[in-house]
Amino acid sequence: MTNSKNDFLPFALPDIGEEEITQVVESLRSGWLTTGPKAKQFEQDFAEFIGGNSYAVAVNSATSGLLLALKAFGIGEGDEVITTPYTFSATAMTIVNAGAKPVFVDIEKNSFNICPKKIEAAITEKTKAIMPVHFAGLSCDMDAIIDIAKRHNLRIIEDAAHALPATYNKEIIGNLKTDATVYSFYATKTITTGEGGMIIVHDEKIAKSCRIMRLHGISSDVFDRYTSTKPKWYYEITQQGYKCNMTDIAAAIGIPQLKKARAFQKRREQIKDIYFKELVDLPIILPEEPRDGDVHSWHLFVARLTDAAKISRDEFIEKMSSAYNIGCSVHFIPLNLHSFWQSHLGVAEGDFPVAVDSFNRAISLPIYTKMTDEDVHRVCLAIKELLS
Ligand SMILES: *Cc1c(COP(=O)(O)O)cnc(C)c1O
Repeated sequence: MTNSKNDFLPFALPDIGEEEITQVVESLRSGWLTTGPKAKQFEQDFAEFIGGNSYAVAVNSATSGLLLALKAFGIGEGDEVITTPYTFSATAMTIVNAGAKPVFVDIEKNSFNICPKKIEAAITEKTKAIMPVHFAGLSCDMDAIIDIAKRHNLRIIEDAAHALPATYNKEIIGNLKTDATVYSFYATKTITTGEGGMIIVHDEKIAKSCRIMRLHGISSDVFDRYTSTKPKWYYEITQQGYKCNMTDIAAAIGIPQLKKARAFQKRREQIKDIYFKELVDLPIILPEEPRDGDVHSWHLFVARLTDAAKISRDEFIEKMSSAYNIGCSVHFIPLNLHSFWQSHLGVAEGDFPVAVDSFNRAISLPIYTKMTDEDVHRVCLAIKELLS
C-alpha cells in the first residue's frame, strides 16, 4: 500500500474493488435502494457459504443482529446472559437493550476467549443464554460451551463479529450446534458492507421472527410485499418490531466481498506468518494459533508485552505512531473498566483479573489485505527497534 517509510501506515483499511463499485452503481441505477433483490441475493449467498440447514437474515449491523437474536428467543426482562468482558461494548449492550442482564465471566489467558471452566459458577436460575465472542477470529472452546449449555438448558448466541470465515473442529462458525450466530460487516471487519450484519439460525420460525422484527414488525419485507399477490399498499404489523434491515446498497457491497472472503483470509494469514517469523526473541507474546486443521480469520493480531519489555504498552503505541508513522490499536478496553458498566452492573476493575492484565499488555498490530509484504516488514522492523 505504502512504499515510503514516511507514509502513514493505517491500522486498518477496507478492501473495495471494482466489483463492489459496479454492484453499488447497479443498485443505484435500478432505483431499488432499500431492502430488495440485492439483500435477498446476499442472504442466499451467505446461507450457502455457511452451508448446512442455515437461514441468513441481513441486518444493518451485528449490534442489531444480536438484539434480534435475543428477542427471537424470548430473552428479556429478568433474564441473565453470560458473556465476556473482553469484547466491544456492543456485545453486552445488546443484552441490556433486550431488557436482560449481562453477567461477565473472565477470559482464558492465551486465547482471550471466555473461559468455559468459569462459566458454570456464574449460572443462576435466571441464566437463559451464553453469548461467546470468537475474539480476533479464533474460535472459542465450543465443545465445552455447548456441553454446559446442554446441561443447563441455555441458548447459545455467538457474537461472530470477528470470525468470518473461521472454523471450529473444521466446521464453519455459524454451522455449529448453537442457536444463532451473528456476523458483522463494519468497515474494518474481515468483509464489509460499510455497516451491516448477518444473523444465521437453523430454525425457520426464528429466522421468520428476525425478518419481521428487523422491519417494524411487518409480516413480510418490502420486496415480498411488492411482488406478492396482495395489493401493493397492504401490510400487517404482527409483532413488536425495530428498524434494522439491510439496504440493497450495502448488500451490493457484500455480494462481491463474500466471494473474496477466503482469499482475504489467506492474505491475512500470510501477514500473520510474516509476524510470527520475524517477531522472535522479543519481549512479546504472539497470539494463539488455531488448532490443527482449523481456520483463524485473523481479523486482529493482538500481541502482548511481557514484563521484560522496557517500555509500557501506551508508550509503545505512541512511539509506533510518532517515530514510525504506523497505526496500532488496543482491543479491547475490558467492559469492567468503563464507568457505565461499573455503575450499571456493579462490576469493578479487580473482578476480571485476566481480562485486565491482558488489556494492559495488548497491542493490536495492523493486519489487513491491502498491506504489502514490505508494509509488514516495516512494522516488524519498527517493533524490533522499539523493543530491543
Ligand atoms: C464490531 C463488533 C460488534 C458490532 O458490530 P457492528 O456491525 O458494528 O454492530 C460486536 N461485537 C464485536 C466483538 C465487535 O468487534
